[in-house]
Amino acid sequence: MPMSDSYKKRLANILPQIVDTFGTPFHIYDEKGIKETCHRLISAFKDIKGFREYFAVKALPNPSIMKIMKAVGFGFDCSSAPEIELSRQIGSLQNDIMFTSNNTSISQFETALSNGGCILNLDDISLISKLTKIPDLICFRYNPGSRRKGNKIIGNPVESKYGVSHDQIIDAYTQSIELGVTRFGIHTMLASNELNYEYMVETTRMLLDIVEMICEKLPVTFEFINIGGGLGIPYIPDATPFNLDAMALETTELFRKFENQNGWVPKLYMESGRYITGPHGVLVTSVINHKNIYRKYVGVDASMSALMRPGMYDAYHHIHIHGKDNSSVLKKVDVVGALCENIDKFAVQRDLPPTVEGDILVIHDTGAHGHAMGFNYNGHLRPKELLLKEDSSVELIRRAETMDDYFSTLKFERAILRG
Ligand SMILES: *Cc1c(COP(=O)(O)O)cnc(C)c1O
Repeated sequence: MPMSDSYKKRLANILPQIVDTFGTPFHIYDEKGIKETCHRLISAFKDIKGFREYFAVKALPNPSIMKIMKAVGFGFDCSSAPEIELSRQIGSLQNDIMFTSNNTSISQFETALSNGGCILNLDDISLISKLTKIPDLICFRYNPGSRRKGNKIIGNPVESKYGVSHDQIIDAYTQSIELGVTRFGIHTMLASNELNYEYMVETTRMLLDIVEMICEKLPVTFEFINIGGGLGIPYIPDATPFNLDAMALETTELFRKFENQNGWVPKLYMESGRYITGPHGVLVTSVINHKNIYRKYVGVDASMSALMRPGMYDAYHHIHIHGKDNSSVLKKVDVVGALCENIDKFAVQRDLPPTVEGDILVIHDTGAHGHAMGFNYNGHLRPKELLLKEDSSVELIRRAETMDDYFSTLKFERAILRG
């Protein structure tokens, strides 16, 4: 079920007031729901010593949301210097930040290694020699190639640009040892929006097997394995939700077996984004136009600058209309934004009840990879972000972009190279 009934109810009670106060469009996130999911994750993996989630910042890079996660003990998975900066600004220290970049530039490494550094997750064997400082701890991202089938979104590992290949992995750790690295981790990320929990269990099994294989050949142990993110959420009503408890149970069993066999055990790290915040955000937008040509169109005041997923991935986002019986006399419509791109549609041939101008549409499951993915193509500006707090107050946690923001990169000192 997309968007919990609890969030739907609490939001519906005050939605007209929120719209009056802040104006549409906006994303609004549910503090209660996010906290509950954080605690659910922690409790599911409580029997694995040192379990830690590093929230994938790219899913929802807003400091007010990240502070909620920091308070429950999560770290942050970053893949760029600005994401590292954002995590540091809310007080994250070295071990709270995992830097999972790829095709990394020297300047990104400089940011990562500054201020006491962070956990470096290297995407390639060639990057070891590019580090200006050798950290105590190094992690490599592992790409199993044909040993694993990829999932639908991320694709086949053989074709994926990420990670160190199976044949290079021993060499990667050997070179690190030679440079004086003493602590090690291993990471992989093979799935995205995966609803089958067994895929994630297989990933843990694969990493634990690799760790055993490396430890047989080299005089090392591993501080952690990081199984990446990719836990799915059911965007489509009636889709079966991800079975977190089953995943946790079978994963815990794999860790117990590993410890029995080896007399030691790495910690388990995870870097979910979507699973933590996805269902706890919605995009609220007003109907501004109707158009009937070959199809019926409902025009809203948000466009794909606020939510790319439908246009980019053909993703389904459930929509309900505030205050209407959403099962009565349905008509097939396309719900569209204002971009000069025909993919700027939040829904295509969707059955919705009739609407009038001013009606409020609630687009579900925009809490991850929603606002963050927005862009300014065609001069469309990104909307504001709000947080529905546990005490039912609503806080503005990011203002909408303005025309000044749009013009800000055109204010600069003229520079010219004369030929
Ligand atoms: C995007 C990403 C994640 C988070 O993915 P979700 O599908 O949101 O869980 C985690 N780790 C890395 C390296 C990523 O690129």
